[in-house]
Amino acid sequence: MQKSSLLLAAWIGAGFNASIVNSFAADVLGYKDTPLVPGLQWHVHDPDRPRPKVVTPGETFSHGAPAPSDAVVLFDGKDLLKWKSDKGDAKWKVENGYMEAVKGAGNIRTKDEFGDFQLHIEFATPEKVVGNSQGRGNSGVFMHGIYELQVLDTYDNLTYPDGQCGALYGQWPPLVNVCKKPGEWQSYDIIFEAPHWDENKKLTKPASITVLQNGVVIHNKKEYLGETRHREAASYKPYSSRGPIELQDHGNPMRFRNIWIRNLGEYDKP
Ligand code: MG
Repeated sequence: MQKSSLLLAAWIGAGFNASIVNSFAADVLGYKDTPLVPGLQWHVHDPDRPRPKVVTPGETFSHGAPAPSDAVVLFDGKDLLKWKSDKGDAKWKVENGYMEAVKGAGNIRTKDEFGDFQLHIEFATPEKVVGNSQGRGNSGVFMHGIYELQVLDTYDNLTYPDGQCGALYGQWPPLVNVCKKPGEWQSYDIIFEAPHWDENKKLTKPASITVLQNGVVIHNKKEYLGETRHREAASYKPYSSRGPIELQDHGNPMRFRNIWIRNLGEYDKP
């Protein structure tokens, strides 16, 4: 029996009720031994959480969208000069107009920091399907470097709903699953509003995000419950309300292209 079939059998056999663990951490289909998501009946990475319905997107939406005149172009297909890593320079591969995560090179993040913004980014999961669950085409876009919008191959790939493509990882599944096939280019158009704290370090405004994946709304001004965590409940820590855009190296050769960002202005403040 193929490993994927074994996993499926384990999934069904366990009745979705137990933490399903095998020797491949990335293959885990969910957890029940985690804390509850704050305010919800579901555990963090709960396999029983309702699965978003599948929607087939239109052929294209903002794929290849040229940057507006006031955008900062973060990646134009040529180099990674706007990016860095913990080790210094960003060491992901650049070829044919895209960048590709290199296993072990680590996450990369923009040198610039942003507050409230509009972000356009395109991604493709590997055409050759390898792995299961969180091990298949995993990456992520981190707002301010700490709030993940999951990137994953969730085309015919079971995983926990709060970890599927388009999830606010560990917090909110997307409204629908609008993933394209492995290897096909997909788009995220993101509007992010930063969290704020008062002078006593009390949270006065949580971070929130609106996301269109391939032209379909998957989050509508949804509030993050805090910084992204794995197997832990999210919480906030005060900071400057500004941060970089970060892309995750999760060991899969994920591709990104055409990345640009605009600072959101304020009304009556041209
Ligand atoms: Mg990820």
